[in-house]
Amino acid sequence: MSESEHRHVRVAVIGSGFGGLGAAVRLRREGITDFVVLERAGGVGGTWRDNSYPGCACDVPSHLYSFSFAPNPDWPRTFSGQEHIRAYLEHVADVFRLRPHIRFDSEVKRMTWDAGKLRWDIETTGGNLSADVVVSATGPLSDPKVPAVPGLDSFPGKVFHSARWDHGYDLAGKRVAMVGTGASAIQIVPSIQPEVARLTVFQRTPPWVLPRVDRAIGGAERSLHRALPFTTQLRRGLSWGIRELQIQAFTKHPDELGFVERLAKRNMARAIKDPALRARLTPDYRIGCKRILLSNTYYPALTQDNVDVVASGLGEVRGSTLVAADGTEAEVDAIVFGTGFHVTDLPIAERVVGAAGRTLAETWKDGMAALRGASAAGFPNWMTIIGPNTGLGNSSMILMIESQLNYMADFLRQLDVLGGRAALDARPSAVNAWNRKVQDRMRRTVWNTGGCTSWYLDASGRNTTVWPGTTAEFRRVTRRVDLTEYQVLRQAGRARRDDNDVARIREGA
Ligand SMILES: Cc1cc2nc3c(=O)[nH]c(=O)nc-3n(C[C@H](O)[C@H](O)[C@H](O)COP(=O)(O)OP(=O)(O)OC[C@H]3O[C@@H](n4cnc5c(N)ncnc54)[C@H](O)[C@@H]3O)c2cc1C
Repeated sequence: MSESEHRHVRVAVIGSGFGGLGAAVRLRREGITDFVVLERAGGVGGTWRDNSYPGCACDVPSHLYSFSFAPNPDWPRTFSGQEHIRAYLEHVADVFRLRPHIRFDSEVKRMTWDAGKLRWDIETTGGNLSADVVVSATGPLSDPKVPAVPGLDSFPGKVFHSARWDHGYDLAGKRVAMVGTGASAIQIVPSIQPEVARLTVFQRTPPWVLPRVDRAIGGAERSLHRALPFTTQLRRGLSWGIRELQIQAFTKHPDELGFVERLAKRNMARAIKDPALRARLTPDYRIGCKRILLSNTYYPALTQDNVDVVASGLGEVRGSTLVAADGTEAEVDAIVFGTGFHVTDLPIAERVVGAAGRTLAETWKDGMAALRGASAAGFPNWMTIIGPNTGLGNSSMILMIESQLNYMADFLRQLDVLGGRAALDARPSAVNAWNRKVQDRMRRTVWNTGGCTSWYLDASGRNTTVWPGTTAEFRRVTRRVDLTEYQVLRQAGRARRDDNDVARIREGA
């Protein structure tokens, strides 16, 4: 589609991961075809395009970690691998005919609210455009974070982040440092351990690890799912229900998680016989405070002769020698950073300029906050998918994405009902009230009381990432847009439009 065909669109979606593709499908289902999906990369898939490290797989059962409107009877495993999830998303893009809407290699560099024309002006590396509404689905885990380790520039070997795996570099026979022990690292370590000469794992904080109940889904089972589609739904429903019941312990009764800790300790004891190593791997915080990790192969890999666990973060790099904060040294050929993402300091926030000429990052300088996880005050007709406090500690993000798509669809319907050129801007009072409620509930949760520092918390220790409730509750509170929570902005009239004059009409307050 040429740029001239699409200088102005009704909706611009940013990102083509689960969130962006889901938004595109939903727009089509709502009968909206005047939209584009702007994607900085050359293909769809987001997380599942970028994370191609060895062993990459989901840690929520595949039948739940997929769209409800696009069930896949052919998932090969209970926890399918990255290549299958990526293929699923490619399939979704094809089946729902989304590709004509997608502009690849179009990184959004800046988007600015034009208060006169009630629209967003969007600058991308693939050309500029404007849109009535922006749906930002840039992902909370899409911009890798590499810590500023002193001396890293002097390292003569290979360095890469788990989300930017360099498949051209052969790790076989190399001395490798794995920095970090989070969700990606525990999948990488057992996958590369057999081939590397030496693997040094730099662990700042040990994770809690539970067994992974993973198995191949056989041909007969898959045929059953194909022949009787309700069996796929049944399976999905069961996985959802179990996780829904667990959530109360995370949000209201962290003490009840004690027995899960005992299970995790037993899991560790089975694999790790050396008491000194066990001590190094035993967390000193409540299970669930950081994401609970699932693996049957991580602990066994750590016991192998070619693996060292340094119970300290990486402190400094001196040439090819890595020095941990506790002084331990290791000489390596390659460093793999499994150090997570810019989650509470989203790079996209620097690029969104709202009604007052302020960026979203400036607005969020004291912490991210968005009405129902979607709308920020002063950013009319802009919403985000997987916005602040919509993350989950134990279930599928697709459930939250689909709830936010309901909200998006109703937002667009409300704009239709208002008629003419109109925009909806979240009232600061509504955003604050929502955020106060979320933060009040957060105080009792395991994420805030469990005694850990995690990526769920921002620099000031506030949890601006996780939803402190069930996914069913989030579904309920995002079903409809409540117009009293928004200001309706209207264009003053055609004659005055060129003067950038907008009359602000308060409605429904
Ligand atoms: C290794 C890994 C495993 C995970 N496993 C699970 C799991 O098992 N279960 C679960 O629920 N969640 C999991 N997650 C979380 C996962 O990120 C979400 O479930 C989901 O994939 C997020 O989808 P998204 O579309 O919001 O974001 P993403 O998939 O990150 O997609 C965002 C897209 O936006 C694009 N983009 C970003 N900035 C710009 C820009 N400025 N201009 C244009 N395009 C831009 C990116 O290129 C990307 O394609 C995992 C995450 C990781 C990293």
